[in-house]
Amino acid sequence: MTSKLYLIFLVMSIQISAFAQIANKIKSEAQKQTVYSLELCKHLHQNPELSLQEFETAKRMVKELKEIGFEVTKNVGGNSVVGIFRNGEGQTVLLRTDMDALPIEEKTGFDFASTKVAEINGDAVPVMHACGHDIHMSTWIGTLRTLVALKNEWKGTLVAIAQQAEELSKGSQEAIEDGLFTRFPKPDYAMAYHINPELETGKIGLRGGPVFAGVKSVEITVYGIGGHGAYPQKCIDPIVIASRIVGDLQTIVSRELSPTEPAVVTVGSIHGGTRPNIIPDEVKMELTLRYFSEETIEKVIAAIRRISDNASRTAGMPEDKLPKVYVLPVETPPVLNDSELSSALYGFASGIIGTENIIETPPEMVGEDFGKYGLTKEDIPICLMWLGSTSPEEIKRLKDEGKKPYPLHSPHLNPDYKNTIETGITVMAGNVIGLMGN
Ligand SMILES: [Zn+2]
Ligand SMILES: [Zn+2]
Repeated sequence: MTSKLYLIFLVMSIQISAFAQIANKIKSEAQKQTVYSLELCKHLHQNPELSLQEFETAKRMVKELKEIGFEVTKNVGGNSVVGIFRNGEGQTVLLRTDMDALPIEEKTGFDFASTKVAEINGDAVPVMHACGHDIHMSTWIGTLRTLVALKNEWKGTLVAIAQQAEELSKGSQEAIEDGLFTRFPKPDYAMAYHINPELETGKIGLRGGPVFAGVKSVEITVYGIGGHGAYPQKCIDPIVIASRIVGDLQTIVSRELSPTEPAVVTVGSIHGGTRPNIIPDEVKMELTLRYFSEETIEKVIAAIRRISDNASRTAGMPEDKLPKVYVLPVETPPVLNDSELSSALYGFASGIIGTENIIETPPEMVGEDFGKYGLTKEDIPICLMWLGSTSPEEIKRLKDEGKKPYPLHSPHLNPDYKNTIETGITVMAGNVIGLMGN
């Protein structure tokens, strides 16, 4: 071992043993704060609000933050709330929670189930925290309360953001555009959780690199020459062209991308025609695309254009009536965890809950707008961790019956609230103290 390496090893060993001493303090404070957070969680669960309507939720977050001494700024890029806690010279760490719920009618049967109804375009819709953002908020508050209680153990600045409209993939972008990194202290690191019903409580999912996929949506309008269904020879049928396109799109991932490069091309809607005996003029399709690298998504979009154009040419459509392929401007970039930050967090988390409770979960093809915090010119290292949310007993019971836990966005989503929150607070407070410890 060279002397420099030995020195690094020595410093790390000292840090790790010092951290082991603080781990017990973190655990017992987190346990205490869980009692508070669980009550908060039940309140939030009973009072869910849809994306961009998080008015009461934001108010509650303001109240919670002020109570523990944070300087609070409301309405950062909409309903988002930013709290700052200064605790001497040191690094700046951002912790993010999301606040929005979903238009879903709750079917859990919990005594604190939501019966809330909201309005979308004049229609009444039931609302439910079916993506665990109630747990994210209460774990976040519990973590901040723990860190304030243990403020002698660390130095630096906490930036806490309760973010609106994650489900619309808008909240992070709007907060960034409203000066999240310029009006407030610029974070050296940013961290967040998402609950994971397939992971047992007591465990977290942590990996460096891609965690959540990038999402893009595409609309394709296929043109034809319409007419009577009895005279196909006088028409060019866009339904047949669209059908070929749907079939050929399946070959992009299977035949054009490397088997080691994950991507998804799903045609989620297809609409054309009105009657059995009319060949329509056009067919519209909507696609969702999932990817982890710019190079992949560029290849996928180029292939969609090529396949669509050539299917129409094959059918005899003229060059000026080839399909219109429109890539929607709203997008969610992939969440790419910083590898150095992730390995540091692995060290802290394993010091608290043990390596056996840190699972290297595979990347998921769903999207999360947390990725945007790591893609600005400030180049902030980010890490999003999965937080196990179903009790081991429930997972075992379901497994014995050949079933899996209810997934995110299910009206039956039934997390093990207490243990999820307690692990969440313990690990996140440990991460922050690990990064900012004395
Ligand atoms: Zn969701
Ligand atoms: Zn979510």
